[in-house]
Amino acid sequence: MTGLGSRDATLPAICDVAIVGGGVMGLATAYHLAELSRLRVVVIERGYLLSGASGRNGGGVRMQWGDEGNVRVMMESIEICRGLAQELGINLWFRQGGYLFLARTAAGEARLQRNAALHRSLGVPTRLIGPEDARELVPELDPTGVRLAAFNPRDGVVFPWPFVWGYAARAIANGVVVRTHTEVTGADVADRDLVLRLATGEQLRAHLVVNATGAWSHGLNDMLGISLPNRPHRHEILSTEPLKPVLDPLVVDLASGLYLSQSTRGEIVGGITMPDEGGGSVSVDQRSSLRFLAHIGRTITELLPRFGGLKVLRQWAGPYDVSPDGDAIVGPTPGIDGLIQLCGFTGHGFMMAPAVGRLLARWIARGERHSMLERWDPGRFARGDGTRREDMIIG
Ligand SMILES: Cc1cc2nc3c(=O)[nH]c(=O)nc-3n(C[C@H](O)[C@H](O)[C@H](O)COP(=O)(O)OP(=O)(O)OC[C@H]3O[C@@H](n4cnc5c(N)ncnc54)[C@H](O)[C@@H]3O)c2cc1C
Repeated sequence: MTGLGSRDATLPAICDVAIVGGGVMGLATAYHLAELSRLRVVVIERGYLLSGASGRNGGGVRMQWGDEGNVRVMMESIEICRGLAQELGINLWFRQGGYLFLARTAAGEARLQRNAALHRSLGVPTRLIGPEDARELVPELDPTGVRLAAFNPRDGVVFPWPFVWGYAARAIANGVVVRTHTEVTGADVADRDLVLRLATGEQLRAHLVVNATGAWSHGLNDMLGISLPNRPHRHEILSTEPLKPVLDPLVVDLASGLYLSQSTRGEIVGGITMPDEGGGSVSVDQRSSLRFLAHIGRTITELLPRFGGLKVLRQWAGPYDVSPDGDAIVGPTPGIDGLIQLCGFTGHGFMMAPAVGRLLARWIARGERHSMLERWDPGRFARGDGTRREDMIIG
């Protein structure tokens, strides 16, 4: 088997933990389970390892959130990222150039003020700055209409692919079986276990199944008669020709939902909110559109006029797995013993995976309960307490 899994990996008839979905969430969890325990862990991925959102995202990692729990998770995650290249033995292209949020409305300004006070109370050095100081940080910026900006120098960007490769390679080296190109097409409860039926005709019996299928998670839930409200939402993104270093922070314009950063490889990578790009069905259209290109092109040119002449090299789309309250859905599933949800991460699952993979593995392997597991409890929707808490979701 290679470090990226294999379609020929031999499956055991039974395992302790079957993780369905070979994205960053499933593989980070598998890696930590193998580090912490002797549990027999199998990852089943229907495509190649980066075929889902983990291979299609912008690689932004930030502590600037509106909710204390999310800020704390991301403080943990960024701390992990700082040592992760060494731990996994792979270059993650992690660069802490900060995130610069721009507010153009009174509501946006109030949001940044409220959040900056929260950040500072938790030890995150978010600074509120005026439009001219924002231009000092980003000389290409036209600050017209910007009322206030917030900057945290510890936020940053990564190259998402090596994260996934690194987690997979280390998990496999520690005994995890990673089977790719194999879809789970059915699932049944059998005594105290779950049995997964695979498109290859094989079956895999597991004491625990982790649903790490991201925006397709309701597909696996449907197979077991489980109904949760998270649904896919299409999101487009692009990258340009490489430039010399010009853009240090990742810039977010709250009013338009535009975000853009410069990768360590020099490309400008950006996306934007397209208000009527709704999803809701199992399949997600992953093609790119001219409509997106025109909209983001106009917005970038207004905000950073000199970027107007940039050549776009690639455009693509991927799914957010949107939960109605903006919070992830992680933990045991009411009604099915042994089914663990690990989904609903909307547009921030990549940055949270280092912390979440570890906290979920600690819970499975050792029974340690991180405080966020109460909050991410999949049972909250049925109880009616899934009210929205986060106001800094972009895209
Ligand atoms: C355009 C875009 C930009 C984004 N930008 C950011 C960002 O800057 N920062 C950030 O933190 N997050 C970002 N995100 C969100 C982030 O990419 C996701 O939250 C994260 O990658 C989710 O990881 P995952 O492992 O849960 O899901 P995925 O990576 O989608 O993995 C799920 C896997 O499950 C597999 N699967 C599905 N059904 C089955 C089945 N029946 N059998 C077997 N396998 C199955 C799929 O093939 C897929 O590989 C962005 C997302 C998009 C689309």
